[in-house]
Amino acid sequence: MNKFEQLGLNESLLKAILDLGFENPSEVQEKAIPLLLEKDTDMVALAQTGTGKTAAFGFPLIQKIDADNRNTQALVLSPTRELCLQITNELKNYSKYEKGINVVAVYGGASITEQAREIKRGAQIIVATPGRMQDMINRGLVNIKNIDYCVLDEADEMLNMGFYDDICSILSDTPDEKSTWLFSATMPQEVARIAKQFMSDPLEITVGTKNSGSSTVSHEFYLVNARDRYEALKRLADANPDIFSVVFCRTKRDTQAIAEKLIEDGYSAAALHGDLSQAQRDGVMKSFRGRQIQMLVATDVAARGIDVDNVTHVVNYQLPDEIETYNHRSGRTGRAGKLGTSIVIVTKSELRKISSIERIIKQKFVEKTIPSGIEICEIQLLHLANKIKDTEVDHEIDNYLPAINNVLEDLSKEELIKKMVSVEFNRFITYYKKNRDISAQSSGERRERGDSEPREFSNNGAVRYFVNIGSRDNFDWMSLKDYLKETLDLGRDDVFKVDVKEGFSFFNTDPEHTDKVMDILNNTQLEGRRINVEISKNDGGGRRDHNNRGGRRDSGRREGNFAPRREGGSDRGGFRGERNSSSRREGGSDRGGFRGERNSAPREGGFRRSEGGSDRTPRRSESFGDSSRPRRPRRD
Ligand code: ADP
Ligand code: MG
Repeated sequence: MNKFEQLGLNESLLKAILDLGFENPSEVQEKAIPLLLEKDTDMVALAQTGTGKTAAFGFPLIQKIDADNRNTQALVLSPTRELCLQITNELKNYSKYEKGINVVAVYGGASITEQAREIKRGAQIIVATPGRMQDMINRGLVNIKNIDYCVLDEADEMLNMGFYDDICSILSDTPDEKSTWLFSATMPQEVARIAKQFMSDPLEITVGTKNSGSSTVSHEFYLVNARDRYEALKRLADANPDIFSVVFCRTKRDTQAIAEKLIEDGYSAAALHGDLSQAQRDGVMKSFRGRQIQMLVATDVAARGIDVDNVTHVVNYQLPDEIETYNHRSGRTGRAGKLGTSIVIVTKSELRKISSIERIIKQKFVEKTIPSGIEICEIQLLHLANKIKDTEVDHEIDNYLPAINNVLEDLSKEELIKKMVSVEFNRFITYYKKNRDISAQSSGERRERGDSEPREFSNNGAVRYFVNIGSRDNFDWMSLKDYLKETLDLGRDDVFKVDVKEGFSFFNTDPEHTDKVMDILNNTQLEGRRINVEISKNDGGGRRDHNNRGGRRDSGRREGNFAPRREGGSDRGGFRGERNSSSRREGGSDRGGFRGERNSAPREGGFRRSEGGSDRTPRRSESFGDSSRPRRPRRD
């Protein structure tokens, strides 16, 4: 008898668990499941992120739901759209052998009427973000007056995000006799208050701190040849213009060397390792916190305990010797409820380490391909266009306008735009035009998700699109795929190869859907901002023809180097501010004294907000901004 059977779970769940590959229950599951199955009780369960809380409430919930009754019987509240979708997905997986159970996700940023329709069709379980749920209740689109179970998942995060009032109001719309299960990583006062107010005699379980990965971090690896490691790092940085990252190397020497190379190539980078004096290290950390440094290259020892919020990426330039160390590394991102990505640049011979790490972190890696030069150019170009759009005009410039107008007066608007954008873009296109593709042969059998399949096989006549929404709008590939399917009214597999970047994304459909995609999306707004979709010149990220584009293959001096920095005084003013051209080594102070500028909008700040000056330190309050709240698109 396996351990899940001992907990009292039924056949269909056990079968689903087998499919999920869970071998043993986690501690919180072992404690919570029997209690929740046995009786109808309130419960407060405290356990770290990544300890399997979803299944701890999900399994008993599925088992207790009456599948023959189509009324809504359970409400799961969760802090963000991502988590909401994730939980919904998990619950669907758990219940796949249980006939007749419907789970519906209710979250902002998608059509409320469609969600209402789904509920009407009979949803025993609703998984919702508080804001959208409240909306639905107000509009009378949902009835939770007779539910038997209410789960407050990641309660501390929900309260952190300011959902206290919504939660209270939603709960007061539910019957007193229901059971309430509260799951949380921590128990701040507000959580205790909710528990006191809305629960009666809850059973309490607490699980000791477990050293397992955080669910706010997604894990990716990129397979490359050893000689391409550095080039891969640069491309990843170029494909994420707003990257704010810690890059881990194995030794002090490598750390110093990689940082120096990055600086030389124009990135705002710095090294952090034990050979620096305390004052130097303090200086580096100050610059990093102040965001003058986008890529902090560090050893494991030196980076221990770095507590900077909003780190978007952890990059494992080399994997650590001890794979357990991976956890400490990836924990530098995905903090304070933010999403983060942990990237591993890996060679074939190290691939098996990925599987070992997966076992430790209890999460799967997604295999990705290093973006092609064309993809990077597109990303950079749109990034630039958006930056131009978002730039506030300092009226000091008015004095110079007559002279400038004189120079430019014969240009049409179109010409002017082309030329302005080309100022930056030419550097990229020139650089990448002659650069080969560097992804190593994909490790085929690791393919698990459609979106990470080797690109050579994937494009069969499909159309690739470029769209101006991305992780900054709180999408990940899964939620964007859902959003697109829903907005475009397409079927399950009609949208594929969704690749979400910071401010932009790529996706594919078959050509028959192209008119629909262009027509509907280009007339849709997200948060008051018009969505813009274009057919990507990129053939789907395939490797076939990018390498030789234009046929010019002079093996220029810059091979292996980043696009050239701007020369001389032209650096000042204008609409530049590309990280790539902005950081210079300044007179000898090559450790910690880098003047990287981050003019781009902060990752969590929504599309339109752009960061003030280069030396701005993000204020505390901003790290809990409302950007992770669901967004509401509307059609024009
Ligand atoms: P939490 O909500 O506590 O942060 P999750 O429920 O999101 O954690 O689970 C984290 C990861 O662990 C998920 O990828 C999940 O599939 C996996 N997981 C959960 N329970 C088990 C188990 N018993 N065995 C193996 N993996 C598990
Ligand atoms: Mg969770």
